Parts: sequence; structure tokens; C-alpha cells
Amino acid sequence: MKSKICMILFAAFFTVLPNVYADSTPSKISKPDAETVINLMKSGNERFCSGKMLHGNQDASRIALAAASDQGNYAVATVLSCSDSRVPVELIFDSGIMELFVVRVAGNVCNTDEAGCIEYGVCHVKTPLLLVLGHSKCGAVSAVMASVKGHGHELEKNIPPLVASIKAPVERAIASNQNLDSKDLMNLAIEENVYESIYNLLLKSAAVRAKALKGELLIAGGFYDLDSGRVIWFDQERIKTLTVKAEQDPRRSVSVYEEILK
Ligand SMILES: [Zn+2]
Repeated sequence: MKSKICMILFAAFFTVLPNVYADSTPSKISKPDAETVINLMKSGNERFCSGKMLHGNQDASRIALAAASDQGNYAVATVLSCSDSRVPVELIFDSGIMELFVVRVAGNVCNTDEAGCIEYGVCHVKTPLLLVLGHSKCGAVSAVMASVKGHGHELEKNIPPLVASIKAPVERAIASNQNLDSKDLMNLAIEENVYESIYNLLLKSAAVRAKALKGELLIAGGFYDLDSGRVIWFDQERIKTLTVKAEQDPRRSVSVYEEILK
């Protein structure tokens, strides 16, 4: 029965999602669970890679629906990804309007602004899934890698603090893989940077941490390969370990709420 429901959702996602929820009232609306969302995003990425995109939920009726709706009743994943123009998030998952809540910033770092955006996506838009997505040939990670190796160059005033959190994952990658060729080392640093952003988020946000610990939110990591268009999803065990570790870290924030404009 459950697999039948999943198949129905699978067929509906990104194409006829409005019909799934068309008769729902806010109190009755339910979304697919996080694992189902991952599978739906994987199939969307497969369509993107194979040139068989459906471009669902991008027409005039969807625009009208979005204008009249609460996105919290529809969006299924919050995504933190890089600003890089080669990583168009909605396209690579063949998704439509009001399906993904996307936060984009150079190097997919998680500083205060990004943590706040993610809190909104997870706690108010109520997405069951958060994906932090790095990508190959990331300029932000490359710049930090060059700096750590001693051949960095001057950057405009606000860029160094933006990418400061990338230094630790780059150093971890170099320390554990000194013999790797530069491409493999870069890819490892990019993967480590995804985990770093997840950990920084878990430290900054008691609300997100609590949802993850209670199983109300699944946090996933991924790597977008510019050459193939494919998204590689990371093993979730390390993220679960990071979640538990963050809860015991004395640097973690324990404040869930702050008043706006005190
Ligand atoms: Zn990038």
C-alpha cells in the first residue's frame, strides 16, 4: 500500500502536484516524507541529465496558484547551494514553481543570513528535507584552497569573511589526502565544505537541530557534477553523527527564538 502511494506521489511530483493538494485545506495538507522527496529529486535530476525534462509546474496556472497560495503547503525541500550560475537548482532537479525553497550563496556557506533563511524554510515553509549542495570546480573553494596553499590573491573587502568558514574543510582535505591529485583534492574539499556548512547550521540553529534530532527534518548533503549534470547524494550517517555532536558542542546556540526589531 505504502509503495503504491509512493508511486502515485512519484508520478505527481513536479508535474501535477497541484492536483495532489487541490482539495486540501491547510489543516489537512500533508507532504511526502523526506525519503520520498529525495527519490523524487533524484528522478528529476535523472530527467535533467538525460534531456527528458518535463518542466512541470512552470505554466500560467502554476503562477496563479502560487500567487494565491501559502508556499508552506507545497514546497518539499529547502536547498542551500552555491550562487554559481552553472548550478541552476530548480533546473537540475526538473522542478517547478513553489516546490523548492532555495538559498544560494557563494561556496554554499552557512553564516547567519543563510542559517536564518534555512530556519524559515524548515520551520515556516515546513519542508521535510534540507539539502546542502556543493558542486565541482567551485570558485569559492578554489580561492580558499589557493590561499591555504600560499598562492592566494587579494579579494574585495567583503569576500574573505564570506568564505572564511571554507578554510577548515580545505585544511582537513589537505591533511588527510596530501597525495591526491589536485582534482580529487578539490572534490574532497568541496565535500568537506558541505559537511562544514551543515555543522555550522546545527551550531547556529537550535530550531533546526531540534527538528533533526526529533526526526522531523532530514538533512542531506550532495555534490553537483558540472560535467555530467548529475547530483551525487552523500551518505546520511555522517550527518546524523554531526547532529548528535552539535547537540553536545558547548559552542551551540540554545536560543530558538529572538524577537524581531527589539
Ligand atoms: Zn561554487
